[in-house]
Amino acid sequence: MNSAILVLSGPSGAGKSTIINKAAAEIGDFYFSVSTTTRAPREGEVEGKDYFFVSKEEFEKGIKNNEFLEYAIVHGNYYGTSLKPIQEALKEGKLVIFDIDVQGHRIIKKSLSDIMVSAFITPSNIEILEQRLKSRSSESLEIIQKRLQNAKEEIKAIGEYDFVILNDDIEEATKAFVAIANAARNKMSTQEAKEFIKKWLK
Ligand code: ADP
Ligand code: 5GP
Repeated sequence: MNSAILVLSGPSGAGKSTIINKAAAEIGDFYFSVSTTTRAPREGEVEGKDYFFVSKEEFEKGIKNNEFLEYAIVHGNYYGTSLKPIQEALKEGKLVIFDIDVQGHRIIKKSLSDIMVSAFITPSNIEILEQRLKSRSSESLEIIQKRLQNAKEEIKAIGEYDFVILNDDIEEATKAFVAIANAARNKMSTQEAKEFIKKWLK
């Protein structure tokens, strides 16, 4: 089985977590990259499943020790991807799914584009996004406004992604996500292509 990376980005409230959870049973064995963050846990979020929640000091220690494949400041908090579990999952031939912001995607694309597929998830307009953030009721109105402001910047990166998933209808969006996850599994890296050709011609 081919290892591969599937990067998902999109404004907060676009439906990334909902879609990953809904599609989980349909996309076979995969590893969801659990990020580390300095933001406070939301109600219902589980340490080690949704995020590793740490202090600013702990996060900065991780940066010094080169523990992160990438990290960024998003909405005023640190978020980062730990390198070690990703390396292990890739070694095991797994599909690794990242939910990271547009800055993280740019960083990863520089070194891993060969084994990576990316998708940007968004509802078709900002009014729907606002409704979703309000209905999730996990943040104050002030934080929601900050996230909406940020969404206006993030949307400018939509063209940097291989695919766009419009999440107006959750069933349609989940179907599109499953198709993209399957496509990611079939992506062949330059190294894998070389090995395949060598074997084929022997
Ligand atoms: P993200 O992980 O991108 O921040 P969430 O998955 O938490 O976003 O979704 C934000 C809110 O919108 C949640 O309350 C979720 O239940 C809701 N939601 C997601 N997709 C849809 C959809 N297609 N239609 C209606 N509500 C949705
Ligand atoms: P939230 O606070 O809503 O869970 O996430 C806020 C934003 O941070 C989202 O855009 C999400 O994709 C992004 N994010 C989550 N984990 C990481 C990470 O490890 N690295 C980067 N660069 N962004 C992340």
